[in-house]
Amino acid sequence: MSASLWTSADIAVATGGTASTPFTTTGVTFDSREVGPGDLFIALTGEATDGHRFLSQAFAQGAAGAIVSHPVEHPHVLVSDTTAALDALARASRARTDAKIIGVTGSVGKTGTKEALFAALDRGARGQAHRSVKSYNNHTGVPLSLSRMPAQTRFGVFEMGMNHAGELAQLTQLVRPHVAIVTTIAPAHTAFFRDEAAIADAKGEIFAGLEPGGVAIVPYDSPHRDRLIAAAAPHAARTVTFGLDKGADVRAIESMRLASGATFVTAVVGERELSFTISQPGQHWVSNSLAVLAAVDAVGGDLAAAGLALAELGGLVGRGARFTLPVGDGDALIIDESYNANPSSMRATLAVLGAERADRKIVVLGEMRELGERSDGYHAALVEPILAAGVEAGILVGEAMAPLVNALEGKGDFVHVADAAAARAKLTQMLAPGDAVLIKGSNGVGLSAIVADLRSRI
Ligand code: ATP
Ligand code: MG
Repeated sequence: MSASLWTSADIAVATGGTASTPFTTTGVTFDSREVGPGDLFIALTGEATDGHRFLSQAFAQGAAGAIVSHPVEHPHVLVSDTTAALDALARASRARTDAKIIGVTGSVGKTGTKEALFAALDRGARGQAHRSVKSYNNHTGVPLSLSRMPAQTRFGVFEMGMNHAGELAQLTQLVRPHVAIVTTIAPAHTAFFRDEAAIADAKGEIFAGLEPGGVAIVPYDSPHRDRLIAAAAPHAARTVTFGLDKGADVRAIESMRLASGATFVTAVVGERELSFTISQPGQHWVSNSLAVLAAVDAVGGDLAAAGLALAELGGLVGRGARFTLPVGDGDALIIDESYNANPSSMRATLAVLGAERADRKIVVLGEMRELGERSDGYHAALVEPILAAGVEAGILVGEAMAPLVNALEGKGDFVHVADAAAARAKLTQMLAPGDAVLIKGSNGVGLSAIVADLRSRI
């Protein structure tokens, strides 16, 4: 039996609504497919759909109560605007906790860093930390994650994302972090920004919500470091930089790839030197881990426990999870990066593929979306990390890949296909024992279907 999260009375006070009958909830959701026993179901009204249509389903699945904007037969709190009520519940949740709150934003690495930070903070005493699930990082995902935080939480970790300027400025007022991390500044969603500096400015909005005495955590290796430090200055009591460079406050002084693919790191955190292993391969994970250590240190968490947690991280589905697939009389290594792609994460993971020992390295790369007018150049530029990784063959998926297909002409066995279904058929023909395959592309390209198909063959 889970602990009570919100009573109907709490919800009425938080939202200014009116409760029909008393009820107690143990979870919160606005997605009717996710409703489980004891949940509070918030009937959001969007352009595409109206949550009120799913009330019967939610209660059939065990919802204990709902937030609605017109009266229904089931136990509910009646409010004038359910979206505003979700924000109000998030504010009430934030106001009632003594937890140390950490907000994580950045162009890439938010979810990975959030998950690693959660594992690091929860390791000392399980159940003391809370985090957003999946990539719930927008104007509904962030308040939902906040409203799910148990009152007794010691550490709350929230992923915060944005596609446009001004979005983080709003989210950070809900989260009110004690510690705010920017993981990276890189070309992602560039279609909506003038240049990378504008992206840095938009990410820097996170610092405006810092609590008094708060700490800003900034990537030292970023060309936009000074911009981020300047954005933090009016709001942060302290700014801590992290990175591979020796100038960073939290830095790696040694990092070595082990035969297992894991990385052994010695890092300096303030006065302390710390050696640990990161189960996930790649320099980008070294960088994410340094941000994690900086944040754990900033909230007074246990650095040794954090080091142990980094050694235990599993690969996240679509973001580095790997598996071995039987092929002919041998097998192939599959690296599942199907969840997203931009120029920075493409480079980071091609380097990981490059470090694999394999008879042949193959890529299945889907187009990188939302890059705007610089899209062609970003795609063509992948030729360099692909060749540097020793990739001999590949399937390039989607129209935006055309400039890369041209750039790779005569450099190996590369084919251009229209969609994920065609890529799947081609990969099946191509696969041979001893291959290592990186599957990566923007989520919308649908490469996850190829991964699901391959997994079903294990
Ligand atoms: P989204 O905006 O979709 O929520 P995100 O910022 O949460 O993305 P992750 O899901 O953590 O990012 O990582 C996405 C991919 O980016 C990973 O699969 C990996 O390939 C790559 N990646 C992770 N961390 C870094 C980093 N620090 N630098 C470059 N690439 C990274
Ligand atoms: Mg994410």
